Amino acid sequence: MRLYIDGAWVESADGSTRPVLNPATGDAVGTVAWGTPADVARAAVAAREAFGRWRDVSPYERSKILRAAASLLRAGGAEIARRMTLEQGKPLGEAKAEVGVAADTIDWFAEEGRRTYGRIIPAREPGTQQMVVKVPVGPVAVLTPWNFPLNQAARKIAAALAAGCTVVAKPSEEAPGCVAELVRVFVEAGLPAGVLNLLFGDPAAISGALIAHPAIRKVSFTGSTAVGKSLAALAGQHMKRATMELGGHAPVLVFADADLDAAAKAMAVAKFRNAGQICIAPTRFVVEQSVYTPFMDRFVAEASTLRLGNGLDPATTMGPLANARRLQAMEAMVADAVDQGASVRTGGRRHGNAGYFFEPTVLGEVPLTARAMNEEPFGPLALMRSFENLDEAIGEANRLPYGLAAFAFTRSSDTIARLGARVEAGMLSVNANLLALPEVPFGGVKDSGYGSEGGSEAMEAYMATKLIKVSETVTP
Ligand code: NAD
Repeated sequence: MRLYIDGAWVESADGSTRPVLNPATGDAVGTVAWGTPADVARAAVAAREAFGRWRDVSPYERSKILRAAASLLRAGGAEIARRMTLEQGKPLGEAKAEVGVAADTIDWFAEEGRRTYGRIIPAREPGTQQMVVKVPVGPVAVLTPWNFPLNQAARKIAAALAAGCTVVAKPSEEAPGCVAELVRVFVEAGLPAGVLNLLFGDPAAISGALIAHPAIRKVSFTGSTAVGKSLAALAGQHMKRATMELGGHAPVLVFADADLDAAAKAMAVAKFRNAGQICIAPTRFVVEQSVYTPFMDRFVAEASTLRLGNGLDPATTMGPLANARRLQAMEAMVADAVDQGASVRTGGRRHGNAGYFFEPTVLGEVPLTARAMNEEPFGPLALMRSFENLDEAIGEANRLPYGLAAFAFTRSSDTIARLGARVEAGMLSVNANLLALPEVPFGGVKDSGYGSEGGSEAMEAYMATKLIKVSETVTP
């Protein structure tokens, strides 16, 4: 995988590369060019120069290019999905679904970019017009992680391009192939040189140089809260706009009046998809005391049906973790919770000695002091506790600094109304699974960040509001 700068696929300025590993085997499956500060500067300058032209391309023409890219992405979907599974580990079916969602997302922003309406505000003086228009903010630094390597990049890039911004993207070096393919389809669809640039390299060095570069006007990052805070501080120092999609630790409130079978099924799918490496994955299960045991039994039964294996094997329903860091984190978090008194209801161990497999794991009666109850596990770990009344459940939901997704299962409209008013989360999902779809807002509050990556809110992030006041005569 090479860099793509100003319309050309290039090696890094000093020619260095790093291996890309298959998490199912630990073997190298390719190499990725390792960019330098000189590459960052070239890409940022190319994005600035291209912005002068791309912002004047009509939204209608931009839309046609985005739609063509979406079609090409779908057409090449099988191979792109295979590459994703080889580099990231998720089952091939999940990788194919991700390609489909990425293509839908590009289509959606292609349309939304044609509706970036302004407004007219009646003036106080006669013969005067006050127009409010939306203008693209400028070149954007897009920094994305490895968990949904294609879709995380696609939704930021599509929104930025549709708004008339140019992009320098730095996706994850651990799963670079599918984003390189994404860039390729945009190029094939007719995107002019310099509008979309692609860098790989040391994340801190590249993001630091990129955010500080005067050509960059906005930063959009998805990743951990710790890294997000440091990048947001850097963006603030340089007065760059920022969207921060950070970590989560989603609570699941299960009330005694819920449909327990359906809730257990829905939450097992949401928990173990992508081996739990999802910022909105359900994590802290808080179950009403009277149904704690029946819900636990149903959930454990669902978890036990999963089949771990190489994502390329059609029988696999859960793949390996994406890297050795996640495996070590799971082992450490389970050991710590058990030391503090949690019980292992299923899983709890590494699976096999090759690759980074970890069993789907359910822990019961997990103390609030356990590390996993406070830090984002970002893996196949479900933690259960019981509650006695609604206030206690809401207190637990809001206990952590995170505020991304929250789930609840109940048939009571009164309970739903109180949860809607009091749960501190950017997304509350009642009796339903939650997916990052192009048409709905996606974002957090508190330490989970700010800004939205879906819905019409997502376009706003790439546009500035400009007032143009015009008078027929000069008024003092
Ligand atoms: P990490 O914090 O080291 O890296 C997370 C992502 O940020 C990676 O893609 C990495 O390349 C990138 N990154 C790291 N330092 C960076 C920097 N200084 N500048 C720019 N990008 C940087 O953690 P990890 O071990 O790779 O992943 C585990 C943690 O990351 C999880 O606990 C989770 O909180 C977070 N994460 C969140 C999401 C999400 O969708 N919100 C996705 C992936 C990882």
